[in-house]
Amino acid sequence: MWWVAGRASSTRGRLTRLDPSPSLPPTNVFLGRTTHRLDPAHPRARSSGADALNFTLDAQDTDTHARAGRFETAHGEVLTPAFMPVGTQGAVKTLAPDEVAAAGADILLANTYHLYLRPGVETVRRMGGLHRFMSWDHAILTDSGGFQVLSLAELRTVSDRGVEFRSHLDGSKHWLTPEDAVRIQDGLGSDVAMSLDEVVDLEGDPEGVSRAVDRTLDWARRGLAERGRLRDEGRGSMALFGINQGGVDRAQRARCFDGLALLPFDGYALGGLWVGESKSVSLEMVEHDCARFPADRPRYLMGVGHPVDVLDAVARGVDLFDCVLPTRNARRGTVFVSTGRLVVKNAAYANDPRPLDSECDCYTCRRFTRAYLRHLFVAGETLAMRLASIHAVTQMVQLARRARAAIVAGGFREFRRTFVSRFESGETLVAPA
Ligand SMILES: [Zn+2]
Repeated sequence: MWWVAGRASSTRGRLTRLDPSPSLPPTNVFLGRTTHRLDPAHPRARSSGADALNFTLDAQDTDTHARAGRFETAHGEVLTPAFMPVGTQGAVKTLAPDEVAAAGADILLANTYHLYLRPGVETVRRMGGLHRFMSWDHAILTDSGGFQVLSLAELRTVSDRGVEFRSHLDGSKHWLTPEDAVRIQDGLGSDVAMSLDEVVDLEGDPEGVSRAVDRTLDWARRGLAERGRLRDEGRGSMALFGINQGGVDRAQRARCFDGLALLPFDGYALGGLWVGESKSVSLEMVEHDCARFPADRPRYLMGVGHPVDVLDAVARGVDLFDCVLPTRNARRGTVFVSTGRLVVKNAAYANDPRPLDSECDCYTCRRFTRAYLRHLFVAGETLAMRLASIHAVTQMVQLARRARAAIVAGGFREFRRTFVSRFESGETLVAPA
């Protein structure tokens, strides 16, 4: 979701002169039902279609709805399930792109709202697109900007046309329409773009939820039409995902998806969840949406990044995740490790010779002790934030990768059970006497 630019009141350049994004290879789509361990060469695994990502399922767990897949972008293949580190302003905070890649990430998320406001799409375009600008060779998924407009911008006005807002940086006025959202993401050079949607308040009245679903569907159609126009001009090669809304109302979510399903989206996102509702309700909605989403398109649960939540959603058929939580916590001195949540700054670790996580193979865990990291945080050294972030990104990216391996090997249920029981044990968190 997102709303921006362009028209009457924008202070930025118009978006009509943006260069084409790199073109994607010819596309195929897997249309059949999945069976366990599909051979990629199997004729049912790849048949022709119009999907921009060529999403293929490699395996489907027989005990749960977990799936292992892959899709292609102009910047490499993405294996799913995948956790996408968040590079809000064109950088995963404190980390160089090589460090993000070394963590195993083959895709990251960048925030359209931030990059649109600063440095602006035109600057990114002149610098050769976001990949070259930030020196990241792998895939990039961009959000539509809508969520950031709602959470950061001032004086937002939502109408059928789109959203008018004031920048949180300088108060300048902007419009974000569904067409703008698509053009801006294309201008950034995104591999996977998101359709603009209207987020509903958890406390929203039924009429408001219904209106937001109508608007989300209208904006979905308009965003796709805009990508069609871009493609007529030789641009718009990026994939585009529709976002399912409807809050925690099953009937509204079903109605929203019934509308989205009629449109040729390359993937689907689950919107408006993990915003304060109970976890059982969140998971019920994930189950509800995934049961409706087609098997041959990737599914993306936005803004979820607690390790147990990720595995719970993978078990229900979700393929993609992103969240600022692991890296934001890391910069503040708290990291997830295989045995739970570790507050690095605690005095208990002052003389602890162990790595953050003895089961983690990241640069930080290979080289440094808890005692040293705790010292860096206490001393206010910026290296503390960098080293903790390296661990945090690696831990989440590798969790998704290990879940994938378990699905392919037919052992996801056991992997999840073992992971969760160990994560909840907290057994190595206390320093040895
Ligand atoms: Zn580590």
